[in-house]
Amino acid sequence: MDTIKKTDQFIINTYARVQKTFVSGKGCTLVDEDNNSYIDFLAGIAVCSLGHCHPQITKAILDQSAKLVHVSNLFYTKPQAELASILVEKSFADKVFFANSGAEANEAAIKLARRYFQVQRKKDKFKIITMEQSFHGRTMATLSATGQEKIKQGFDPCLQGFIHLPFNDIDTLKASIDPDVCAIMLEPVQGEGGVISADPDYLVAVRKLCDDNDILLIFDEIQTGMGRCGRLFAYEEYGVVPDIMTLAKALGNGLPIGAMLASRKAKKGFDFGSHGSTFGGTPLVASAALEVVKIISNLDFLEKCRQKGEYFRLQLNNLKEKYSFVKDIRGMGLLIGLEIDDAKLDGTTIVEKCLEKGFIINAIQGKILRFAPPLIIGEDEIDKLIACLDNIFSEEI
Ligand code: PLP
Repeated sequence: MDTIKKTDQFIINTYARVQKTFVSGKGCTLVDEDNNSYIDFLAGIAVCSLGHCHPQITKAILDQSAKLVHVSNLFYTKPQAELASILVEKSFADKVFFANSGAEANEAAIKLARRYFQVQRKKDKFKIITMEQSFHGRTMATLSATGQEKIKQGFDPCLQGFIHLPFNDIDTLKASIDPDVCAIMLEPVQGEGGVISADPDYLVAVRKLCDDNDILLIFDEIQTGMGRCGRLFAYEEYGVVPDIMTLAKALGNGLPIGAMLASRKAKKGFDFGSHGSTFGGTPLVASAALEVVKIISNLDFLEKCRQKGEYFRLQLNNLKEKYSFVKDIRGMGLLIGLEIDDAKLDGTTIVEKCLEKGFIINAIQGKILRFAPPLIIGEDEIDKLIACLDNIFSEEI
């Protein structure tokens, strides 16, 4: 039985999969089982930011797998300590908690925010404000935090205490603050929600609101962090520092790891026994993530990401000039969205056509193409995708 049939028969069908089986990858290229090559502009949804099978990461995995793969968090391991220390050195944070995924990192953030106030005997201060169209994960707490109804369908009752408000609307946010709010949680750029950036003034005002009302600010940087938006963390671009930040996706370049970073103040919410994870920060994934952080945090590397992001957006804007149904080009760094406004052409059709021509892209919310290529993408590869999109779009007119 072939892989697609076997998958469909034996795996619970929760994903709308494309009929394609990949067998290998190198850099920005993926290869399918019929030996066709594809340029990857999705990177496992902003995960393989250093490209597929990056030699330095592969070496770290091989070396560590021959030494020690797992030991309980009841003991100490060097890769975990080194990873935590570099994340603290490169960010606002004072301490880190390791998990295995984005949802788990957010789960930790939600728990920390609530417990931070409960240890101060402020039991009623448990409400968390999140944004409409946000995405924070699929566990019960994180889908309750998520501001998209379709993610919650069939799972009632959701965890209580989450309030969803329109993104970038400071007046509504101000009007919704009461003494029971313990945290405001948001993505600096909403990824799944349609590649929508926070307005710089909005984030500054949210920070002030938090400071004035004894509220913790949580940034979900699971998609925006690790160089994706042209800085190591997107908050740096805004100059607005959170109390808690979550990372996952690109942190392991494909190995499962999540991290919750907390300021000196916020970390006080957790102490012995308040949270845990069997696999969190295991030596194998931590040693790979350590190499990832070392490479991505290099300032020249980040500068190149910003340049390539600008170049990419410039080329996409040229398409916008040419085709009236290209409504908007937006995003930061190499997290880019292209919104289509055309009755006949939907995102899924364009994704399929690109795939036929050897390009992997993604569509979200029906009409928005999302590009999140490996950060090592070259201008020549961007040019090839632009030519492909130009071709597809020209068939429309
Ligand atoms: N938060 C954001 C902003 C995300 O984009 C995602 C995944 O797409 C998550 C949380 C959930 O991460 P995971 O799928 O690793 O649980």
